[in-house]
Amino acid sequence: MIDEERIREHRMRALSPDHPVVRGTAQNPDVYFQARETVNRFYNACPDIVQQAMDSFAELTGRSYHLFDYHGADDAERVIVVMGSGCESVEETVDYLTARGEKVGLLKVRLYRPFDVRRFSSALPPSVKAVAVLDRTKEPGSAGEPLYLDCVTALQETARPNVKIVGGRYGLSSKEFTPAMIKATFDNLNAPEPKIPFSVGIHDDVTGTSLDFDRSFSIEADDVFRAVFYGLGSDGTVGANKESIKIIGEHSPFYAQAYFVYDSKKAGSMTISHLRFGPRPIRSSYLIAQANFVACHQPEFLDRYSVFDQLMPHGKFLLNTPYASEEVWSHLPQSAVEQLVDKRPRFYAIDAHKVARECGMGGRINTIMQTCFFAISEILPRDQSIAAIKEHIRKVYESKGNEIVQRNLNAVDKALSYLVELQIPQSVPVRTDILTPALKDAPAFVREVIGKMLIGRGDQVPVSALPVDGTFPTGTSRWEKRNLAQEVPVWEPDLCIQCGKCVMVCPHAVIRSKVYDPAILKEAPASFKSREARLPEWKGLNYTLQVAVEDCTGCAICVDVCPVRSKSEARTKAINMRPQLELREGERNNWDFFLKIPDRERRELSFANVRESQVAQPLFEFSGACAGCGETPYIKLLTQLFGDRLLIANATGCSSIYGGNLPTTPYAAGSDGLGPAWSNSLFEDAAEFGMGFRVSLDKQRQFAEELLRNLQGEIAGSLIHEILNADQGDAAGVYAQRQRVADLKRALNSIERAEARRLLPLADTLVRKSVWIIGGDGWGYDIGYGGLDHVLASGQNVKVLLLDTEVYSNTGGQCSKSTPLGAVAKFASAGKRLPKKDLGLIAMSYGNIYVASVAMGAKDEHTLKAFLEAEAYDGPALIIAYSHCIAHGINMTTAMQNQKAAVLTGQWLLYRYDPREASRGEPALHIDSAAPKLPVQEYLNLENRFKMLSKARPAEAKLLFQEAQKHVNTRWQLYQQLAKNDSPPKKTQ
Ligand code: SF4
Ligand code: SF4
Ligand code: MG
Repeated sequence: MIDEERIREHRMRALSPDHPVVRGTAQNPDVYFQARETVNRFYNACPDIVQQAMDSFAELTGRSYHLFDYHGADDAERVIVVMGSGCESVEETVDYLTARGEKVGLLKVRLYRPFDVRRFSSALPPSVKAVAVLDRTKEPGSAGEPLYLDCVTALQETARPNVKIVGGRYGLSSKEFTPAMIKATFDNLNAPEPKIPFSVGIHDDVTGTSLDFDRSFSIEADDVFRAVFYGLGSDGTVGANKESIKIIGEHSPFYAQAYFVYDSKKAGSMTISHLRFGPRPIRSSYLIAQANFVACHQPEFLDRYSVFDQLMPHGKFLLNTPYASEEVWSHLPQSAVEQLVDKRPRFYAIDAHKVARECGMGGRINTIMQTCFFAISEILPRDQSIAAIKEHIRKVYESKGNEIVQRNLNAVDKALSYLVELQIPQSVPVRTDILTPALKDAPAFVREVIGKMLIGRGDQVPVSALPVDGTFPTGTSRWEKRNLAQEVPVWEPDLCIQCGKCVMVCPHAVIRSKVYDPAILKEAPASFKSREARLPEWKGLNYTLQVAVEDCTGCAICVDVCPVRSKSEARTKAINMRPQLELREGERNNWDFFLKIPDRERRELSFANVRESQVAQPLFEFSGACAGCGETPYIKLLTQLFGDRLLIANATGCSSIYGGNLPTTPYAAGSDGLGPAWSNSLFEDAAEFGMGFRVSLDKQRQFAEELLRNLQGEIAGSLIHEILNADQGDAAGVYAQRQRVADLKRALNSIERAEARRLLPLADTLVRKSVWIIGGDGWGYDIGYGGLDHVLASGQNVKVLLLDTEVYSNTGGQCSKSTPLGAVAKFASAGKRLPKKDLGLIAMSYGNIYVASVAMGAKDEHTLKAFLEAEAYDGPALIIAYSHCIAHGINMTTAMQNQKAAVLTGQWLLYRYDPREASRGEPALHIDSAAPKLPVQEYLNLENRFKMLSKARPAEAKLLFQEAQKHVNTRWQLYQQLAKNDSPPKKTQ
């Protein structure tokens, strides 16, 4: 279809020194306007050219398109204008309504701009009386959304004043767009005074824009089989469903469709698969609201989500449950029991994890649940579907060896023998709903808004319930209780040396320690564990290590780092993983009691070592990060150290998804009500965003100080002097200043002067605030690097925590400038050819920036020290933190050992560059890791991102890994030199 001659002409217009020209001149008022008008004829010609291209495409393929395509009744009176994916559902609904005699139609927009007003108008049937234009966008303050405005102009310019036109919004952020909403849009056109502008799909009880729609209106045909599956991100449900689609597509005459919905949690994310099978092509571009079949692959979901909402009466329901058939009922939450009794489906159960264990398949229950689906749904004859599953297993697992194939085949047979059908009683005694106690004590907003989102009913939250400025409460992740872990750590108090290492590394702040007055134990549950505290400073106090088993992800990284083993039983450590289910009830009580024990105040802690730092309350807890995440322990530490005075400017990425993605937020406040305040900005400007925090805080503090000086004489004693000269270098200093400011506020309340009234709301800025900018390597090394460099070079007192996973983790593992030489990543599938950018070295070259490179798994004390030094430094600081990640292709349980190996081989250096040292005449750069003891290859061998290359391209891998070793050697030597030479020159006499 492409004219070669035009391509040649285009190429001839390229910039080339062979026929030199300049482009991009700065144009002044004399000619700029005229120059803009030169292009009109191209825009005018474009619609015809596009139509010609569509026509030749039709000739070649038989598929005919127009700039505007009309579908519906020839004598339509009401028409919806829409473009993009929304067209499919409107077309389906128009067919349904016209078959029932309604005069309705759809105008699909295929070329939006340049907007051809003439073609638009002539595509509308002459009978049309009213048009609703739907935009999937919102432009606050405009007279209407963009497509609507173009259509209004088109009707005006083509003299069709008798057509009433209204504009509305739908589907923002992929909000569902269903036939019920489409019908409501047509109904609005029937009203004597249609709503304009309107919204559809939400309940706007504030400005009243939304159209009411009948949720029960459905146009799904009876001969379309609809199945919904609730699975866990890692349990293989989605993969199995994709396979089921293929099997049904290949072995039956049915058309098939699948939608997969993922939540944004990284660990234990829920997946919902919506599958349709039917005798005609399926146009329904919305999720299933009424399913013949619902499967719940994780029993915990029954406590948290309304999985029965979609199940049609007398449909089929399949549950994976660890309980024997006679016990299943008594372990269902009340809400599930009520729905089952009400809807009376055929109810099937299987202990898929038991089958998986017996067949040696670990936690992979996909094949088992897929077998059950085919057996129950009867879409295909049972023998045929089982044969197809087995054929697929042989194909997919062949390369992994006979044993794996056989295990999966056994799982299929065993699944059928373990699958049971349960009878649903006519009525059941009322029991306590498990969901209710968890949220019962939550604040009203959590119960009524966040609670709804948590159970998957966020669509029903009205406009009035949401904050107008996007401000949400913190500390809400504690209400989730996701019960993800099959196994959780259990403490052996007699073995434990109370080192705090497990607490330090826990990515989810699930395992915690406290020291406290033993008198508190009078109230403790019988199973609550406690021992005398071992540190001399804690003499007379007791120590407890407590796990929030319902929030644990079961990553076992805490057990891996525990340094203590039992002398009598080497496999037993001071913490050990044990099945969660039987511990859940007791540990829930223990955790509740543990929370009641007062936390040590930050000002009482010296933070001199890890064990002491780890009794500080974390103000970042139960995030949605991956199990075993390497980033979150650093953020947790940050909040333990400075959480009461912390403002975080976050760069979009993993840290914004586990840090601030609704429904819940992991940042939390302490019992004093103080805690991190957090906001997020783009990759492109997050550093500048954080610098803005600093500049505005400093300005407000300066103004407050000015006002305070003006009030000399009004406030008795030395309070003003003390506030203005306070040392706020540590937690104790900050606490003392907070007390002074409280006194000041009390004094200001009784002073009539305008300065006092102005100072009152600014007084808190006199207490030191710490601004930390947090982001990943995709931000700091690549996209936000220019801004980061600018902010660090500004000399402002901002701290940067760069969570370095050496890859764009949040978007699926693309290569960044931080990716090490030889690593395989997206866009570096043949291994990265260049070494990692040395961001720390660049930052050190300024001389006035505190820079540290840390790896918690290699030396936790070093990490702690670097955080304290960075915070204490009165200027910019950058901490580059080695963060292991699932994208590395590693065992996350032992990932802290990978950090150690990276340091032992010199792949990662531990250092601190402190400009204060230089001003004292000492070398600023301290290299805190020893000379490499092992070859780099030993580290590379631990991670799939490197091993993959050895498998795929062994010869190249060998060369690249040799390069990697050379680079490590050169870098080590360079740093040695720098550490020696960076002391300031001795003063000459
Ligand atoms: Fe924390 Fe993982 Fe240990 Fe659970 S298993 S307490 S999430 S480190
Ligand atoms: Fe106790 Fe082991 Fe935790 Fe250290 S790491 S506090 S020894 S359980
Ligand atoms: Mg990253």
